[in-house]
Amino acid sequence: MARYTGAVCKLCRREGQKLFLKGERCYSEKCSIVRRAYAPGQHGQARKKVSEFGIQLRAKQKAKRYYGVLESQFAKYFDMAERKAGVTGENLLSTLELRLDNGIYRLGFANSRAEARQLVVHRHFTVNGVRVNIPSFLLKVGDVISIHEKSRESPKIKSILEITESRTVPTWMEIDRTKLEATVSRIPNRDDIDLEIEEHLIVELYSK
Ligand code: SF4
Repeated sequence: MARYTGAVCKLCRREGQKLFLKGERCYSEKCSIVRRAYAPGQHGQARKKVSEFGIQLRAKQKAKRYYGVLESQFAKYFDMAERKAGVTGENLLSTLELRLDNGIYRLGFANSRAEARQLVVHRHFTVNGVRVNIPSFLLKVGDVISIHEKSRESPKIKSILEITESRTVPTWMEIDRTKLEATVSRIPNRDDIDLEIEEHLIVELYSK
């Protein structure tokens, strides 16, 4: 599983906004964006004129970083989005949203998407009763996501559930907190996705 292994707070500082990549820390005073709200590097505080291409590139980088997806996989998602009926940018976001690691994060079964990825790889979740250890697994309508029986007593999982208890679960999934399982009730649409991404800029970039 290829993934970004560098300093994640730098990614937020590069985008100039919180991408919520570190769980609890993102909501605290320790957040790097709170302490150093400028781009990383020697020239991070310099004013720069950004080209049209630069703006489109930043939109794509931001989406990739939110979801923790690398370039080649992101390009594949774009290809899938283009082939589907409807608006390509919205298709792209709904496909990204249907990744299992994102679903786990949205359900509050992990503090961040990065943590969700790690927990999925460590086989803590099932989809339709079968353990799935592929973070990029794409969910479908009707899929039932559950915390594996053996993982329910794990101190780590218990602590995550305590922290995320008040997290609002998006309406495209129906969660049963007592059973610690959720069902995908519909495909997420743009209104369900609360991320500041200008997807039309990504479409423009790939259309060049
Ligand atoms: Fe981004 Fe979270 Fe780091 Fe803040 S703490 S800069 S939101 S990853």
